[in-house]
Amino acid sequence: MRATLVTGIAELVTNDPSVGSGLLGILHDAALVDEGGRVAWVGPATRAPACDRALDVAGRAVFPGFVDSHTHLVFEGQRSDEFAARMAGEPYTGGGIDRTVAATRGATDERLRTSLAARMRELRGQGTTTVEIKSGYGLGVAQEARLLRLAGEVTTETTYLGGHVIAPEYRDRRGDYIDLVTGAMLEACAPHAKWIDAFCEPGSPTALDEEEAREVLRAGAARGLRPRVHGAQLAEGPGPRLAVEVGAASLDHATHLSEADVDLLALAAPEDGPVVTLLPLVEFSTRQPFPDARRLLERGVTVALASDCNPGTNASSSMAVAMGIAVRDMGMTPQEALWAATAGGAAALRRRDVGRLAPGCRADLAVVGAPSHLHLTYRFGVPLVRGLDPGTCPDATLRADVDLNRRPEW
Ligand SMILES: [Zn+2]
Repeated sequence: MRATLVTGIAELVTNDPSVGSGLLGILHDAALVDEGGRVAWVGPATRAPACDRALDVAGRAVFPGFVDSHTHLVFEGQRSDEFAARMAGEPYTGGGIDRTVAATRGATDERLRTSLAARMRELRGQGTTTVEIKSGYGLGVAQEARLLRLAGEVTTETTYLGGHVIAPEYRDRRGDYIDLVTGAMLEACAPHAKWIDAFCEPGSPTALDEEEAREVLRAGAARGLRPRVHGAQLAEGPGPRLAVEVGAASLDHATHLSEADVDLLALAAPEDGPVVTLLPLVEFSTRQPFPDARRLLERGVTVALASDCNPGTNASSSMAVAMGIAVRDMGMTPQEALWAATAGGAAALRRRDVGRLAPGCRADLAVVGAPSHLHLTYRFGVPLVRGLDPGTCPDATLRADVDLNRRPEW
């Protein structure tokens, strides 16, 4: 098996405190060996073993690629007009999803596949190497299964979200729609999904209320899909306690948490409780208050950062920008934000092989065009990161990706 030695790493973030210092397990002047797409060795450059091939990243920082544990990437139709309307003062109520559902239902497989591939390239070009993708814009048996099948072509982290909103044609008979989501739709989707999710937001007229969400999540769990929950996005509500109750791997959004919610999440945390996945790009794009990450971290809750990239409430796929907001406005340190966007995302997906760079993990590298990870937030909005697969990318691609012939300017 061909081994590639990556050298010239000014700062290697391993997220493994047994290997390096601090929360991020940082090693300076480090090297890493990739063998068949897995990390075979990490350590000081001076002790690096000989390999078939060497790749010098010329004084840059390397970290485990972003794990974006919450996206809605299979869709047709952009909604930039809604963003403009929100910025002009219109409130967000969750209703715009219907537009995406109509456009997505009308798109061919080939059209959806092409736009999904473009989005995957966009994510990877910004350092995201693992991505979760939800259905939820089909809202019919064949349509939801189709979206999951397409998502499954690009990731193993697929989430059945028939319970995104009540399908438009069922609004006056909600119970029938829940029967469909927990019956025929679940049967058609389960073979293509790893997770099940529900948008539990009683304040939104189209999202699910507590009992509807509970029914959906329990049916999915009985079918072998582990729950994840969209909750407490627009207001305090039942989402957090439902996530704990059904053993969800993750509670996502969590923008509005009561003291009782935080107590419950902190109590559940040590026992495989929900990771709380904060999605600040949504608050940015809907002009809502940002969630308070500090409050959760101080209570020992595991926090992840994800993009929630979708055509309505946030169309940015930049994990680095999400980190910048988390640091500026949510009480996270740059180290905590990077951990949350990598190891935190992996925890939300219950993955041990990504989000870290330790022997045995996937060699999913992200290279920063700067000598320290701090530049990710310090140089807010600047595209400094590239995903890098040292073992399989041709050398020419690597050089183009990280501009290896130039040392970082900063
Ligand atoms: Zn979402």
